[in-house]
Amino acid sequence: MYNVKSLKADEFIDHQEILDTIEYAEANKNNYELIDQLLEKARPVKTAEGCVCSGLSHREAAVLLACDEPKYIEKMYKVAQEIKDAFYGNRIVLFAPLYLSNYCVNGCVYCPYHLKNKHIARKKLTQEEVKAEVIALQDMGHKRLAIEAGEDPVNNPIEYILECIDTIYSIHHKNGDIRRVNVNIAATTVENYRKLKEAGIGTYILFQETYNKKSYEELHPTGPKHDYAYHTEAMDRAMEGGIDDVGLGVLFGLESYKYEFTGLLMHAEHLEAVHGVGPHTISVPRVKHADDIDPDVFDNSIPDEMFTKIAACIRIAVPYTGMIISTRESEEVRRKMLQVGISQVSGASRTSVGGYTEKERPHDTEQFDVSDQRTLDEVVKWLMETGHIPSFCTACYRAGRTGDRFMSLCKTGQIINCCHPNALMTLTEYLVDYASEETKKVGYKMIEEELKKIPKENVRKTAEENIEAIKNSNRRDFRF
Ligand code: SF4
Ligand code: SF4
Repeated sequence: MYNVKSLKADEFIDHQEILDTIEYAEANKNNYELIDQLLEKARPVKTAEGCVCSGLSHREAAVLLACDEPKYIEKMYKVAQEIKDAFYGNRIVLFAPLYLSNYCVNGCVYCPYHLKNKHIARKKLTQEEVKAEVIALQDMGHKRLAIEAGEDPVNNPIEYILECIDTIYSIHHKNGDIRRVNVNIAATTVENYRKLKEAGIGTYILFQETYNKKSYEELHPTGPKHDYAYHTEAMDRAMEGGIDDVGLGVLFGLESYKYEFTGLLMHAEHLEAVHGVGPHTISVPRVKHADDIDPDVFDNSIPDEMFTKIAACIRIAVPYTGMIISTRESEEVRRKMLQVGISQVSGASRTSVGGYTEKERPHDTEQFDVSDQRTLDEVVKWLMETGHIPSFCTACYRAGRTGDRFMSLCKTGQIINCCHPNALMTLTEYLVDYASEETKKVGYKMIEEELKKIPKENVRKTAEENIEAIKNSNRRDFRF
């Protein structure tokens, strides 16, 4: 029986509720009066303090997703962009994944790190190697990482992950810093989540892969990850352990996208209903080729157009949630997705253990093939040329603005006086310390224009002064 507040996976991700939602959406997909009402309801509304947005329920959002009338799809894209502009402006936060270990005891059939893959080289970084990878990442200009490791209690116990986090935060190479470490490791215990919180992690990310229990069990035939309930209830344990920024995601292509889309939104509603705060981020990866994995064996692959529509509908349904797209996707797909609500992208990613210190991209041990292989400098320049401010900001988490405090920053519309100058100051750091001459030229021009958009005069003045200090000294890490 569906119960959004239940702590049991089967009840907050109720199979029948998902089927009923899909049926309801199908029955209403040409109900244009309803669709117009939903789009109107979802639009941002200006208030005395800032801007608010109602979002949509999973049933409402499913109706939008089911609608395939081009005119209405265009309207959806417009509303998605409007929401993005209201809460995220034209800023795009950049990050990189850091693979610590590909030892894994699970049998996930879509991932080359599965236990039965005997020919892939297994590797786990030593602390010296972590240091070398972090220096390589800092030398590119990265400030925000997402660490990744397979599940293996012997090779990758929580103590190893905690040691790596400590090492990462301790390295300050030249003007470099890693200021936020997000963590993408297997579902674990409340106690371990508490340890991660104490280690100062940013977001805890765990992809559900699929919300369909039957498919989930087939796709994870062996290992601890086989336990659907333990995996699905992980975010509740993370929140109990004190982590209030959690990141959801499904691996699109494994199951029917309608099922996944509905499950994802039900999960977000569940977190909001039980913990008072929804997911900090939602990622939208698609199954990709890698080592012994052929994406064509999964018959639920989605074309780019549908993928874009999914992203737009998520943006409309959960307006305050950051949305992430990785280098799994090509430049062209990423460009489209930026227009419908994506707020974070990875750049210059290496998806193998130890990949950043290798001259050539190592293909044989990648977790997935990287479609967008541009350097960070190229991605930064491209973002600016397409009208986006690349941001390396990590201020909220470091100022303790996590969970609902972050959400209230979003809702009071103070983001323009906070994120915007922070983006410009961290972009200046990037330009001064790491950018090519060409990128610098584009960047400084953009910063000059964007500074004018900060409404509060005192904030604008301070940002200008800090930017000058970054240009003329080694002072770094200014933030609002
Ligand atoms: S997806 Fe994660 S848990 Fe599954 S095999 Fe790959 S590394 Fe292991
Ligand atoms: S100020 Fe906070 S919400 Fe804004 S970009 Fe920085 S970390 Fe994100």
